[in-house]
Amino acid sequence: MEQTFIILKPSTITRGLVGDVLTRFQRKGLIITGIKMMRLTDDILREHYAHLVDRPFFPSLLNSMKATPVIVAVLKGNDAVAVVRAMTGATNCRKAAPGTIRGDFGMSGQENIIHASDSPENALIEIARFFKPDEIYDYDPIVLPAIYAPDER
Ligand code: UDP
Ligand code: MG
Repeated sequence: MEQTFIILKPSTITRGLVGDVLTRFQRKGLIITGIKMMRLTDDILREHYAHLVDRPFFPSLLNSMKATPVIVAVLKGNDAVAVVRAMTGATNCRKAAPGTIRGDFGMSGQENIIHASDSPENALIEIARFFKPDEIYDYDPIVLPAIYAPDER
């Protein structure tokens, strides 16, 4: 099964939305295979947001991502990357569709609740960036037969 990577951003910690966001993924049938709290550093953020370092909002994004510790997690499921991105919604919460996490919980382009990997290739890179191999637990919970048909597992 595919794995994807998420960050519950400082705005989510501060606003007390950690449970709401994680509950959505668990209700969907995604399996948490890794989860921890950490403080993000400039070094890891420059790597993680390398595609944005030259943008004018980058210093503000750095400060925002360091405002509090974050929660990082790995979620497992069939097509997990695409499913989690769809549940996350458009980058700007004001434009994100209602029913998505950003569409339901935010009002900002920057303080947009969650990061989610945008491709299977980046998911592998991001999981390795934030987790040691022994921090990922690739188990199959007993509910799996109620989430997927036999030929989907
Ligand atoms: N961001 C921002 N202003 C912008 C674009 C992005 O503050 O105009 C922030 C926002 O927090 C976003 C993050 O930079 O989640 C990473 O941007 P990306 O384009 O990768 O969007 P995402 O993949 O998070 O939807
Ligand atoms: Mg992105």
